[in-house]
Amino acid sequence: MDLKDIKKIGPVTLERLNANHIYTPKDLLLYFPRKYNYYQVDNSNAFCGEALCFKARVASRPIWIKTHKNSRAFVFYIFVNERKIKCVIYSSDYLRFKLQIGLDIICFGKYKEKENEFSLSTVFFEDFSSRIELDYGILDIKNKMLQNAVKNVLDSGFSLEDDLPIQFIEKYRLGSLNEIVKLAHFPRNVQDCERVRRRIRYEDFFWYTLSLEALKKLRNEDIKQPKIINESLIEDTISSLPFELTIDQRNVIQDCLRDLKSNKTMNRLIQGDVGSGKTIVAFITALAAITAGYQVAIMVPTEILAKQHLLTIKRLFPFLASELLVSSLKQKEKEDILFRLLHGRVSILIGTHALLENKVIFKNLGLVVIDEQHRFGVRQRQTLLKKLKGVDALYLTATPIPRTLGLTSFGDLDLSLIHTMPKNRRPVETKVISMEDISTLALTLRRHLACDEQIYVVVPLIKESESLDFIDMNKAMEIFEQLLPEAKLGVLHGKMKANEKDEIMSSFKSGKIECLLSTTVIEVGVDVSNATVMVILDAERYGLSQIHQLRGRVGRGEIQSYCYLVTTKAYVQRLDILSKIQDGFTLAEEDFKLRGPGDYLGEEQSGFMSLNFDYESNDAIIWKCALEDSRAYLEEYGKDFHKNQRVEDIFNQISYKKNKIN
Ligand code: ADP
Ligand code: MG
Repeated sequence: MDLKDIKKIGPVTLERLNANHIYTPKDLLLYFPRKYNYYQVDNSNAFCGEALCFKARVASRPIWIKTHKNSRAFVFYIFVNERKIKCVIYSSDYLRFKLQIGLDIICFGKYKEKENEFSLSTVFFEDFSSRIELDYGILDIKNKMLQNAVKNVLDSGFSLEDDLPIQFIEKYRLGSLNEIVKLAHFPRNVQDCERVRRRIRYEDFFWYTLSLEALKKLRNEDIKQPKIINESLIEDTISSLPFELTIDQRNVIQDCLRDLKSNKTMNRLIQGDVGSGKTIVAFITALAAITAGYQVAIMVPTEILAKQHLLTIKRLFPFLASELLVSSLKQKEKEDILFRLLHGRVSILIGTHALLENKVIFKNLGLVVIDEQHRFGVRQRQTLLKKLKGVDALYLTATPIPRTLGLTSFGDLDLSLIHTMPKNRRPVETKVISMEDISTLALTLRRHLACDEQIYVVVPLIKESESLDFIDMNKAMEIFEQLLPEAKLGVLHGKMKANEKDEIMSSFKSGKIECLLSTTVIEVGVDVSNATVMVILDAERYGLSQIHQLRGRVGRGEIQSYCYLVTTKAYVQRLDILSKIQDGFTLAEEDFKLRGPGDYLGEEQSGFMSLNFDYESNDAIIWKCALEDSRAYLEEYGKDFHKNQRVEDIFNQISYKKNKIN
């Protein structure tokens, strides 16, 4: 059967399906809804401040209003539990015409106490007490249309082959693939959705961990020339550092040197909390590779960070020829660097992904360091490594992989951990405050400014969004102009040009900007020691680990630093753990319990993790089972695992070593 033979799929729809990688009936059946919205009408809690579904009656005709960024919304009044209340909804015209005075409707939205209004996201015109809506997440194909197409395929008797090993399906009563497909597209209740979720999650994790384990088995084939390093020079350099290395730093340096000296290509991931001193470990390793006669490339996600690293290297190793390669360089400068690089007259090249361009050719590249590796997609990593066969690679990340994930390696990467922090590091004092109390916070902030300290304000959105109810840059600017009328404010975000960003960042460094409103672009390694306060708006939207990394931007100098997490009442308790725990690894465990492993594997990393369910997950347990099972499976079928098409596909996605499997 062909997609085009299915009733109701015309050429236009077919094209749109193809654009979403749906080519066959099988693809269609396996294209599960991205989200299930579960609505249960409950008027008793309508004013609790959580997003809820409740009955209401239209009390006034809607009128258009303009919001900051020209997005359109309209306002109308409703009766809820006898109260007449204003509501705001972003929507298209059609809704306006349907909203007649006196009409009974069901609203989905959230009551905002401060504004005394409802912010609605959906209005239903038919009556129900509960319902499930599927969201396939394809913009130009209606959900209903896709569901009908699925129905037509199923009605024709088409069925799928299940490649998940039967023993595991039975062990957890996961349900056969065909059964799950039906439930996924036609759930009767929330339990059905949960069953779908369980099987998909299990399957995602099973194949993913299987491929990680399999990769580990394959890794040993990658051979290179061992490096002969000048160990006494390394020892001398270490003892002349302005500080004493921590034990963990020393151990990890030993791991790295061992890798350099080995005939197996190094693929090591260093995990260590923000501020644990990964940079120096990487730089010493770089120096070691250079003493063996090789060149080193250091790749970082932002220009700001690249410049900062260059300064550090020049300070630590003034005798090395180190250069910066970033896209904002003038053509002439670039060519000059590339020329010297090709002739081996540059020892260390630091840069952003500009390093990946084809014209960047080293004479004798021996080591690549990739800082903040979680910021690079797996694809960029692949490009890099394809280019660099037999070149040692060292990755740095501040995202600790929770121990409960049970991975001693991360697929093709060996792990080295830095747990200990350098001595005399003061923890960042963290407080959670509710948005209503932000004016009290202003007093504190003014005191810090009066002492010539500087402030970061982390803002969740650049632009106002219709679907996300978070503070955007304009709104944040308004708020802080009011709270801190004397302060010099600046704005930084990822959509700005590199030179604009640099300018803002250097104004902040020099103190010309006192309070910097920024998106999470600052998360990555930037160092301003005079910045002692961080305010994170809508803090509930971030994972605990991410907040922990953000707050690592302050507390870099002598002065006590503070982090204020601003959130709504509902989240105060959940975030409060950050005021008690300073250890990134422990927080990662907490995140893992709350949010499951998706955060660590990353969507891009895995290629799965596609389903976002809105309710509490038990992913951590599913993950554990899947890991144990995939290990057992690999033990049993060890030799044949890569004949499995699923494993092969996963290799294609996560591994640059795919070529070797054949
Ligand atoms: P991260 O691991 O987050 O990349 P950095 O490498 O930037 O952290 O280190 C943070 C700061 O700590 C730097 O200013 C660095 O010079 C300093 N540092 C690193 N190791 C030590 C140490 N053993 N003792 C004291 N300070 C250290
Ligand atoms: Mg760093």
